[in-house]
Amino acid sequence: IEARTEQRATISKIAHQIFTSDETGNLLERAERENAGDENVQALLRVVRRDFDRATKLSTELVEERTRVTSQAQDEWAKARAQSEYSHFAPWLDRVLDINRRVAQAYGYKNCLYDALLDEYEEGMTRAQLDPIFDELKSAIVPLLKEISPRSNQVSDEILRREYSIDKQKQFAERVLADCGFDFARGRQDVSVHPFCTHFGRDDVRLTTRYDLHDLPSALFGSLHEMGHGLYEQNIAPELDGTPLGGGVSLGVHESQSRLWENLVGRSREFWNRYYDDLKNTFPNQLNDVAPEAFYRAMNKVEPSLIRVEADEVTYNLHIILRYEIENDLLEGKLSTEDAPAAWNAKMQEYFGITPPDDAHGILQDVHWSIGAIGYFPTYSLGNILSVQLWEAALQAHPEIPDQIARGEFSTLLGWLRENVHQHGRKFPPQQLIQRATGRPLDVAPYAGYLNRKFREVYGL
Ligand code: ZN
Repeated sequence: IEARTEQRATISKIAHQIFTSDETGNLLERAERENAGDENVQALLRVVRRDFDRATKLSTELVEERTRVTSQAQDEWAKARAQSEYSHFAPWLDRVLDINRRVAQAYGYKNCLYDALLDEYEEGMTRAQLDPIFDELKSAIVPLLKEISPRSNQVSDEILRREYSIDKQKQFAERVLADCGFDFARGRQDVSVHPFCTHFGRDDVRLTTRYDLHDLPSALFGSLHEMGHGLYEQNIAPELDGTPLGGGVSLGVHESQSRLWENLVGRSREFWNRYYDDLKNTFPNQLNDVAPEAFYRAMNKVEPSLIRVEADEVTYNLHIILRYEIENDLLEGKLSTEDAPAAWNAKMQEYFGITPPDDAHGILQDVHWSIGAIGYFPTYSLGNILSVQLWEAALQAHPEIPDQIARGEFSTLLGWLRENVHQHGRKFPPQQLIQRATGRPLDVAPYAGYLNRKFREVYGL
């Protein structure tokens, strides 16, 4: 790990030196002066200018130090988490916060340090915009959860925890991914400890998933989730490939794609009208006694839980809001790293009515802070909100989409997403892309409405 840390610090330093050199700056200025290109060239200049200006604000020493600190912090976090020893990680969290404050100062900001960090993951987003978004989310979710909680055990997900052979899970998931439109000639799916999607160009998109013998949803919905990220990368316009425009525009928009396929498609009645018989034929012993409706309800069970990545659609955003509030207080020094676990547990009690038995199931569960990612968490919720806004816009253009999904046809939906989101890569800033695709700015209302309709029906409220 020490050797790898040094290698990464050196490479990040060299990359930063080359990109921020006078030579790059001069080339960029010349290109801006000549600026005779089409709209792709205009967008390219805008994006490279943004990246260049941000990068030149950080000294090479700061970049190198950030890589070194976060590389080690990640390793220390993994040890701390394995032993549930928060005190081992706390000094590293202090170092991560310190370097993030220095990075934010270097970038500059209007209102708060956090805005400078958030802008890295979600261009143009600020705390002033996020606070009301999260307030609106809370006021939609907290009362709904209060109504569901006493009825939580009306829905059992026992059937999803039976023994499901890993070979068959893999076959089933890969077939579904191919049906949805993931191109296995230009991508693949492998196994890793934590699922992710990465790409080396639009023609080489790698998904990973994890299989659990006694947890059917883990690989099934995890695969659909990563596939949503993968479809985005596979469908970026070929002419943008290999340029700074050839990638997803922001983490929030990326997450809208994964959540749309995972939840709006994968956890819908229409989808299982088509696939439930196939699943039952794949696992006859496990599902013989299970009616389609029981399966639908099981995979949409709502239950306050400790772990973000396992959370259902209703409680998921509360996990994000909790992290958002804590990382803001930490960054601004309103909360010490020493007091952070207690603050975490108090918020768990307040929002979920449960308290983690130890820090591994609490503040130590996520990798993000250890890798230096402060301001990253909100993009998960932005993705959830946007997934429904985009879904509704797609359905307005093509009301036949749900019926098509019930027949296992996904090309109209994928085509709409390609046309309105995927193909553009980083060409438009996120808020402009959302406006173009849906005719209005980011809006919580469709998402709040969707959660209420879907889960009131599941729980008979
Ligand atoms: Zn994701």
